Parts: sequence; structure tokens; C-alpha cells
Amino acid sequence: MKLCRFQPLRFSVEAVGHPGQGIRPEPRWGVIAGETVREIAGDVFAEWRATDRALPLDEVKLLPPVTPGKIVCLGRNYSEHAAELGNSVPKEPLIFLKPPSAVIGPEEPIVLTPFSQRVDYEAELAVVIGRLCAQLPPGDDPRPYILGFTCLNDVTARDLQKADGQWTRAKGFDTFCPLGPVIETELDWKASSVEAYVNGQRRQSARATEMIFPVDDIIRWVSRMMTLFPGDVIATGTPAGIGPLRAGDVVEVVVSGVGTLRNPVIAQAS
Ligand code: ZN
Repeated sequence: MKLCRFQPLRFSVEAVGHPGQGIRPEPRWGVIAGETVREIAGDVFAEWRATDRALPLDEVKLLPPVTPGKIVCLGRNYSEHAAELGNSVPKEPLIFLKPPSAVIGPEEPIVLTPFSQRVDYEAELAVVIGRLCAQLPPGDDPRPYILGFTCLNDVTARDLQKADGQWTRAKGFDTFCPLGPVIETELDWKASSVEAYVNGQRRQSARATEMIFPVDDIIRWVSRMMTLFPGDVIATGTPAGIGPLRAGDVVEVVVSGVGTLRNPVIAQAS
């Protein structure tokens, strides 16, 4: 099942009650069936049902499929990627955070920052947490805590990552966390692949099973440091093949079984 958040592209300004202000209606949850989005009533993290209100997919704007309280990311979780940046493989999961303010949805532009001369894409498989999760013991099955999976682009100012030593600035600029397009609730992540395309050319490609620390281990590990809340996102690391983005590029993250997260790249207006 593919869950999404969306707004109708066409809406009645009068019905919304903000005449002349052009304010879109509140984001809605939906479930995608074929070329249709069916609106959801209730809470996807608790109880919900699909309503009979439906719109064609091409009449909605897809939003980031979740608004995470935190985004926990894995560094160097594919050995070939660690090697391409001259790093060794970590002995235990290496984690860092991206701020929720960096999140954008499908088709929204990644804005290059004048602070960096080298902004890279990083295609990643991301886990969306479905229920409160803390202190999972080794061997505990984390699947009941997973709502589903989505695509994430861990956009990184590579020069600042090297210069700063710690990664908050390099990973944290506004628009540096494209997320979406949907949450697939039934993905067998072990059968999925992670790919990046820039202007239609494939730059990254790996099987998710090439991860050094697999999804289950990562969730248990992170839960021992910080409580995971519904809607939190864990990005599982990027394969080899990272490279720079330039204004005018279009970058796509493709996770098989989930979909394609597509974002244009623009320069920051001066
Ligand atoms: Zn990454």
C-alpha cells in the first residue's frame, strides 16, 4: 500500500475561507490506488480508513509523505561509498541528524547555497517509524515499529562536511532533504535497490542488502540512543557513486518498490 500526503491542485478559494489569499487547503493523507488518490480519514499512525473521496493523481500536488520530528542518518553504511571518500568502514553504526526544516517534497527545488562550492546528491532508502520505539533489545523484531519505506536524498555540502569536521551545517541547509514520493507499507526492503539519476543518467546503483548494518540492526541501535516517535525518519546510508549537483540539473532517487523522488536543482536567488 502506498500512503501519501497531498493537496488538491485545484480548489475553491471561497470554500477554503481565505478569499484572495490563495492559501491551499490543509495537507491531507491519502492512499494511492492506480492513478487515483483516495483520501484518508483518521490518523495513519493509529486508526484510519480510506474515504470515498478520491482525486486523479495528476490533480494533486504530492507533499513530503511525512513531517518527521527528527531525521536520523547513517554514514558510511555501504563499503564502496566509504572507500570512494577515503574512509574505512565504521565498527558500529555512524549516525548523524538532519533537521526537519531541510525536508522538501517531490518536484520541489533543491536550492544550492553560496556557502558551498560542492553540493552532492546521496540516494538513500529511508524508514518511516510507525509507533513509539525505545530500547529495543538485540534480536527484537523492529518490524512492528515500521510504518513503511520511502526515498530520501541526503543532499550534502561536501566541502563543508570536510571543513567543519562535524556534519550539521553540510547536511542541514534548507531543501537538503527531499523525501517521498510515497510511503510503501509492504516493501520487502531486502529485495529493493537504491539508485540515483542526474539528468536521466544513472550515477548510483546498489542492492539494499549491500548495507553494512541492515535495517533491523539500525532501528534497534538507534532506539538505544534516542526514542523514535511516529513519523521519525531513518536514512540508511548511500551507495557508491555520489557526485555534484549543478543549477539546472534534475536529480532522481529511485527505490524499487517505492517509486521515484524527483527534484530540480536551482541556484539561490541573490
Ligand atoms: Zn547520506
